[in-house]
Amino acid sequence: MFRLLNVEGRAALEHDGHWHDLATASGDPSLADPMAAVARFAELHAVQASLADRVPEGAVEPSTLGPCVPRPAKVFAIGLNYRTHAAESNMELPPVPMVFTKFPSCLVGPTADVVLSGPTVDWEVELVVAIGVGGRHIPASQAWGHVAGLTLGQDISDRMVQMSGKPPQFSMGKSFDTFGPIGPALVSVDSFPDPDDVELWCDVAGERMQHSRTNDLIFGVPDTIAYLSSICTLEAGDIIFTGTPSGVGGARGRFLKDGELIESGAAVIGTLANRCIAAPTAG
Ligand code: ZN
Repeated sequence: MFRLLNVEGRAALEHDGHWHDLATASGDPSLADPMAAVARFAELHAVQASLADRVPEGAVEPSTLGPCVPRPAKVFAIGLNYRTHAAESNMELPPVPMVFTKFPSCLVGPTADVVLSGPTVDWEVELVVAIGVGGRHIPASQAWGHVAGLTLGQDISDRMVQMSGKPPQFSMGKSFDTFGPIGPALVSVDSFPDPDDVELWCDVAGERMQHSRTNDLIFGVPDTIAYLSSICTLEAGDIIFTGTPSGVGGARGRFLKDGELIESGAAVIGTLANRCIAAPTAG
C-alpha cells in the first residue's frame, strides 16, 4: 500500500497525516519527480512500509500539494458513464465508452482555485485512474495490474463551450486552465476494499450535489482500459477521468459562481476543496 503526494513539485509519501520526501526516504534521487514515482509505483510499497520508523518532513498541508500526477502524456475522460447521469443529460447509453481528452495543462492540485471561464461552468466529481504499466491491447482481465493507483478529480466543464460545436466536441470546454483538480493523493489499488466500488461525492457551497459509487459505472475501469488500449498505446503516467454520476449543475440549471467552494470526496482517497473565482477581466 502507498499514498503518493506531490509536495511543491516533489514526490512524497503520506503516512499517518505526515509526509516523507520520496527521494530522501528511498535514498534514490531519481524518485524526486512524481512522474518517475508513478512509473515505478511497484517500488513504493516497500518505501511506504519503512516510514513508521522515519522522522517525517512535516504534517501534510493541503495547500502545498500539487496534482499527484502532474504531467501525464495523455488525459482521457469518459462521458456519460453512469446510467443516472446519461438519463439526466437526455442522452442514450453509449455502446462503447464516449471518450474525449482534457489537455494536461488543465491539471491543478487539490486546493487550487478554479477560474470560471463564463456563466455555465459545471462540476463533475470523478474517480481518476493513473496508468503505471503501459501497453497495447490490454485485456480487461489484466487491466488492474496496469494501474499505478487511484485518485479523485473534478472534470470541470464549461457547458456552453463544450456544446458549441456542430457536432459538439467536448475537449476544449473541459480544458480551460484549472479545470482539472486532482488529488489529494495517488492511492495504491491494494488500499481499497474493492477498487471497482469506490464511494464518491461532491458538495457545492455546502449542498450535496453528487453521491454515488463506481460500481454504477457503465464501463468500469477494466473495460475502459481494454477499450482505450485497443486504440492507443497507454503509457505510465497517463490518466483517465472515468466519468461522473448524476447531479451535475447542467441538469439543475445551476452553475458555479464566484466565491463558491467545490468540496469533493472519495472513500480511502480523501478530499478536494476548490474555490471558484471569476476570470480577471481583460484590460
Ligand atoms: Zn466528466
